[in-house]
Order: sequence, then C-alpha cells, then structure tokens
Amino acid sequence: MALLQIAEPGLSAAPHQHRLAVGIDLGTTNSLVATVRSGHAACLPDKQGRMTLPSVVRYGSDGEIDVGQDALKAQKIDPANTISSVKRLIGRTLADIKANEETRYLPYRFGEDERIIQLHTRAGVKTPIDVSADILHALKNRAEASLGGELTGAVITVPAYFDDAQRQATKDAARLAGLNVLRLLNEPTAAAIAYGLDNRAEGTFVVYDLGGGTFDVSILSLSQGLFEVKATNGNSALGGDDFDQRLFCWLLEQNKLSQLNEQDSALLLSLARAAKEALTHDNSATIQATLSDHRHINTRITRATFQQLTQHLVAKTLAPVKQAMRDAGVAKTDITGVIMVGGATRMPHVQQAVATFFGQTPLNNLNPDEVVALGAAIQANVLAGNKNDDEWLLLDVTPLSLGLETYGGLVEKVIPRNTTIPTARAQDFTTFKDGQSAMMIHVVQGERELVSDCRSLARFTLRGIPPMMAGAARIRVTFQVDADGLLSVSACEQTTGVQAHIEVKPSYGLDDAAITQMLKDSFSNAETDVQARARAEAVVEAQSIMGAVQSALALDADLLDASEQQSIQAALIQTQSQVNEGDVQSLRDAIQALSHATDHFAAMRMNRNIQRALQGKKVNEI
Ligand code: AMP
Repeated sequence: MALLQIAEPGLSAAPHQHRLAVGIDLGTTNSLVATVRSGHAACLPDKQGRMTLPSVVRYGSDGEIDVGQDALKAQKIDPANTISSVKRLIGRTLADIKANEETRYLPYRFGEDERIIQLHTRAGVKTPIDVSADILHALKNRAEASLGGELTGAVITVPAYFDDAQRQATKDAARLAGLNVLRLLNEPTAAAIAYGLDNRAEGTFVVYDLGGGTFDVSILSLSQGLFEVKATNGNSALGGDDFDQRLFCWLLEQNKLSQLNEQDSALLLSLARAAKEALTHDNSATIQATLSDHRHINTRITRATFQQLTQHLVAKTLAPVKQAMRDAGVAKTDITGVIMVGGATRMPHVQQAVATFFGQTPLNNLNPDEVVALGAAIQANVLAGNKNDDEWLLLDVTPLSLGLETYGGLVEKVIPRNTTIPTARAQDFTTFKDGQSAMMIHVVQGERELVSDCRSLARFTLRGIPPMMAGAARIRVTFQVDADGLLSVSACEQTTGVQAHIEVKPSYGLDDAAITQMLKDSFSNAETDVQARARAEAVVEAQSIMGAVQSALALDADLLDASEQQSIQAALIQTQSQVNEGDVQSLRDAIQALSHATDHFAAMRMNRNIQRALQGKKVNEI
C-alpha cells in the first residue's frame, strides 16, 4: 500500500542510506520533534532530557532569543517581550484577534495596521511567522544536535481546521527556519498514523484532540490498511488555555482582585495552569503567590470545584464531535474506538465526558502529548524515502466547499466540503455575451447559494478568449487542492488553449468559529437560499431573453405592425420591472409573457432568414 506520494521527486534514498527526517508538532502550548530510528518513532529530548519545548519565545535585551523553558519562566516578569500561544495568531489579522474573546486581551504591544499582526518587542517588530520560525529553528537545532547531521526535511503538523492562510504562514515560518517542508499534515491524521501503525485496527475511529489552544475532532475510517479521514470539525479557540483562564478568573473572584498589572496576571495564569495539571492526579491544589503590591494569595481548590467551573468547556467540545459524525454519516454505534490526543485530554473529567458520550473507554495508551509528533515522524520517514513498503494511504478532507461565482451572483460548487484531498476537479463554463473576450473568475468558499453569503478567496481574469457567440466558448476551470490543503485554480479556453492560473493565498484566515457559523448559516438559511438561487437563475434567464429580443428588434422591427411592436415593448418593460423587484413566480410569468408576445415575431424572422438563405439558389443546390 502506498502513501499519497511515497517519496518527493529526487528524494528516494540510495540503499543503506538513511536520510534524516523529522516530524514536528508545532503546538499552541508545547512543540515536539520526533524521528524514526531503527524502525521506531521517538521524540527527541533537549540536553536536559525534556521532550516538550514550550512554544514560547522571549526577545531579550541583549539581542538574544530564548525559546522554551527559559522564555516561559521569563513570561511572568517580561510579558510584553515574551510571546506565547503564537499559533492563535498565525495567518490572522489584528481585526480577527480583536474580535476574538480568547485573544483580545493578550499582553502584547500590537502594531496599528488592522490587516496584519505586528508585535512590537524590544528586538523590533515581529510577526507571528517570525515567532513561529524561532520555535521551529530551536527544534531543528535540537534534532540536528541529537541526530548528528543535517536534516533532509520535516513534516509539520497543523490543526485540521487551519485554512489556507494559516497553512501558508506555517510553511513560510518553516522556510524561514531553514527547514525543507516535506508536507504539512493535519494533527489528528498524524495521531492516527501513530495509532494505526501500532494497533493495525480496522473500523471507524474518532480522534479527539484537545490541546493547549485548539480542539479538533476527526472521523477516520480504517479498512484493509486504507486510512481515510471522513470528516473533520473543531474549534480553534478552545483548549487547555481556556481551563487555565477560567481558573484564573475564579482566583480573582475568590481574592476580590480586579485591575492586575501584566506581571501579576501572567504569574497567576501560570499558577492556575500548574494547579489544573496537578488536579489531574490530586484531589486538591493550593495556589500561593505574592503580588507586586505585596498582597498574598493562598487559595485551595478541589478537583470537584475545578470540574464544576470548567464542565461547560468540556461540554463545548461535544457539538463539533456531533457535527463531524453527522458529516461522516456515522452513528455512535459505528465508532470502534476513540483516540485521545493533546495534553488537555489528561483531565479526568474530559476522559469521563468522552467515555460517557461514546459509551466506551477512549484509547490513550500512547502519550497524548507525543502522539502527533510520532505520527509526523513516521510520515517524514516515508516521504524522505527511507521506507518503501507497507505504508498507509492517507486522505484528508476540505472543511468547506470551494466554488466559483457564476452569472447572477450564484455559487457553483466545484469541490464540495468533506472531499478527500489531494483532489482536482474540473468544470466547464461558457461566456454570457456575444464577443466576450475576457472572463473574471471569482473563487469562493462556503456552503451558501449566493456569492454575497460566502467568503471570497481570490479573483483573476482569463483574457484573450476569441470572439464567439454567447455560450459557444468552452472554458474549463480546474480546482486543485494539494496534500497540504492549498488551493490552486486554473482556467483554460478549450478551443484556443488560452490559460490563466492563480494560487489561492488569502490575506487573512477563517477561524473555526467562522467556519462553524458559515455551516450553521447554510443549514438555517437552506430554504431562503433555494429561493434566492431560483430568483437569481430567473433573472439571468430574463436578461438573456430580453437581450435577444432587443437585438432582434434592432435588426427586423420592420416585420412588425405598430400594435405588435407595442405589445412586445410592454412585455419587455414588464419583465424588466419584475427583474428589478418581482418575486420568482411573477418573474417567471413575465418571462413567459415575453416569450408569448414574441412568438409570431420569431416565426416571421425565421421565414425571412430562410428566404434570404434560399435567394438566388437553384433547387439542386439546396
Ligand atoms: P498540547 O497542546 O497538546 O501540548 O497540550 C497542552 C495542554 O495540555 C496545556 O493546556 C497543558 O496545561 C495541558 N496539560 C498538560 N499536562 C496536563 C495534565 N497533567 N493535566 C491537565 N492538563 C494538562
């Protein structure tokens, strides 16, 4: 069984030559790097033997950059120059960040420009790509020191719901860090590789991934060695950080604290996280701190209270689970196993809620922090050409439909949502007007029928279409989504071979809340959308018929007497007024009336054209 692309061109390893390839889990809270050695995947530790690298970067006063534990420690005293959870910012705009409850109160000095994110640090302006590159660079150094050589490439994991902008930004960060990206891989898919290879199971699996900052759920189908992601869903603004935040707020209430300075906030937040982690094993935890104004905090919390405070966050994960199951067309009884991924799934009430929901104990025999990196390492090993047989076929899906704007502001879906990727689909379109020499291609994403309700991804123009009658040109538009989920669209006029092409790199991203909202809207507006589509189609038809009648009148009005001309003009006016403001039915009636009013005219024009064609010809020539 082959992986999608077993080896990238030129990367097949010579016999006995092992290429150094790693899998990187670039996490919101922690990152890891893993590799396959002697056929076994393992995470690579730092010099102190620690596997996880906190995804925290500190820009120091003397120009040095700390990544990981040292930066995490400094966060308490230097929050503005210490960037954490940068994954929440990558591929986003400042406007997105401000609109999001989870990110709007971050203690950073943001630049003014709403369209990008600029973090003002003492080392100058840093973008989320720069910060992510610093984390990746630290992991690259760790791997090269540990493996004793230069890396051939890396597979980097991203949440299943990352859109094009977020994926592209992650790739850019990797390049900036000097890494050759073999592939971006969805995190739950990586986890499934790790479990699939270990357990060789068949059936339908759910990957429940609650990390530090994101929640992803995927429905996977495994059969006869074939691994397919059936559906994905999630919430990119929900994770272990939210549990910390809730506990932090409770701590403020308990101690009647408001208005904390940045330093005290960061201190209490990190103590809240430590207490949360302790409550996984212990029945109670005590949070002790001295604030900058010398106030002492000494608050005890029990596991039961913590679970009560955060039960709503656990419950919030179940809605995307249900939606993914609906999308995949599976019921709870179809689920063979549930794979737990992400450090936050260690919390007993998360395990309990998942077990109760599915009526079975989730699979958690692999370390939930490491499983994604291990799966990525296994795939990197294959892509680097170190492994030739017995690989898994791995498929991901598109989260939202991709389509084109057609005449009348309608969306023609080319790749429906939950299509397995990589994929390529082509559809033929034609021109609307006689002699039309250019065509604007507008690429949109979403489930709704009208362009105005979907998200615009890109526009480009196909020029040089030879002059033809409306409807005669054949323009083939091809959508291609590669294995990293990046979209490229090309258009080609079939008779001349004229081509245009665009790679879609949207300047800002969609977060999961937006995707969920778009899906919800498409369900709740299904009825109105059908009507809007029917009306838009009727408008296009009316405009096309009116255009044809007007050009016929310009050529052959002399065939009509005054009263016939009047009734056609009246029908034209009536149709135009229904185009402007009529409902679907009255518009259809007007089209029918116009067609009826021109029946006789059409017959006379046909006679005239036949006579012209026959004029001066002998019978035997005809
Ligand atoms: P990840 O993004 O997968 O590295 O997950 C990190 C999240 O897991 C953070 O919110 C951690 O606080 C959380 N986490 C790690 N260990 C534990 C634990 N023992 N109990 C509860 N949460 C944990």
